[in-house]
Amino acid sequence: MFTEIKAAIEKADNIIILPHKSADADCLGSAFALKLILKKLGKKALVMLEEKEPFPHTCGILNGVEEQVSLNADLVIAVDCGDLERLGERIGVFKSCPETVNIDHHPTNTMFAKYNFVDTNAAATGEIIFHLAEFMNVALDRDIAENLYAAIVSDTGRFSYSNTTENTHIIAAKLHGYKINHTEINEFLFERNSLNKLMLVKAALNSLQVYKEGKIAAVEVTREQLLKLGATEEDASGLISYPRSLETALISVCFRESTVSDTVKVSLRSNIYDVAQIAKQFGGGGHIRASGCSIAGNLKDAKEKLLDALFKVIE
Ligand code: AMP
Repeated sequence: MFTEIKAAIEKADNIIILPHKSADADCLGSAFALKLILKKLGKKALVMLEEKEPFPHTCGILNGVEEQVSLNADLVIAVDCGDLERLGERIGVFKSCPETVNIDHHPTNTMFAKYNFVDTNAAATGEIIFHLAEFMNVALDRDIAENLYAAIVSDTGRFSYSNTTENTHIIAAKLHGYKINHTEINEFLFERNSLNKLMLVKAALNSLQVYKEGKIAAVEVTREQLLKLGATEEDASGLISYPRSLETALISVCFRESTVSDTVKVSLRSNIYDVAQIAKQFGGGGHIRASGCSIAGNLKDAKEKLLDALFKVIE
């Protein structure tokens, strides 16, 4: 399928790259790496984001993020996006373009584009972008390599999650060949927290609850806490790692009330259960071991519904 995507890119002049809403480091690193790759091919390329201030901390270590002029696209490429809904308000941009590409690694991907490249064995979408650059004979540079490294190191939990493969390490080794500043990227992504973020962690840990003899571990943060702390989406994105680290937990979950709508964002993790299937029951998706969904309504009801589904899995 790279062949068709290559042809679509070669034919296009103006290309818009669409990361999913609430884009994480894999999504953003892949999108900005792709933009730089397309520019090397002589294309006009723009990353169109959903949020005005997307994950500022992550963007702080990516390259090619600077302000961009708008484009009338003849090709759009969705990146790391499992379904059309994940494009949020930009769904119209996608649908109005005659040529569409979908590059992703989520098993729940709905193949929504004209050309779809979905590799569920890729630990990160960054791995696919690396291979696409190779396929298109684009020589990487340090900026592209750093974006791809940020993408891969984050979606693999610093090369520790079960999605990490030999290929992941081979790609990372090749990226090191471009003299990437891996220490700074790791420090920035994993070791520097704002006070707001640490206060949010404190609030989340305070809410820790276990069910089914500790097989399920859950934390929650309310809209009120998020607003009071001025916490961002990005601040809240890593909270799931705390219940996940409970030694008895087979499934971990983080509930987070949205500050802008009457919904609850749910993150799910498991080392043995297929949590993508659980998220799918609530209109979400993701990976077998890491998934998410948004449930309409208040925190109490969302928790009840989701925990009910988990209790059915863990009898
Ligand atoms: P998160 O818990 O937000 O870190 O997301 C874990 C995984 O699930 C990521 O690969 C996301 O892309 C995916 N995911 C999260 N929320 C949703 C959703 N509402 N719909 C589809 N996929 C989701």
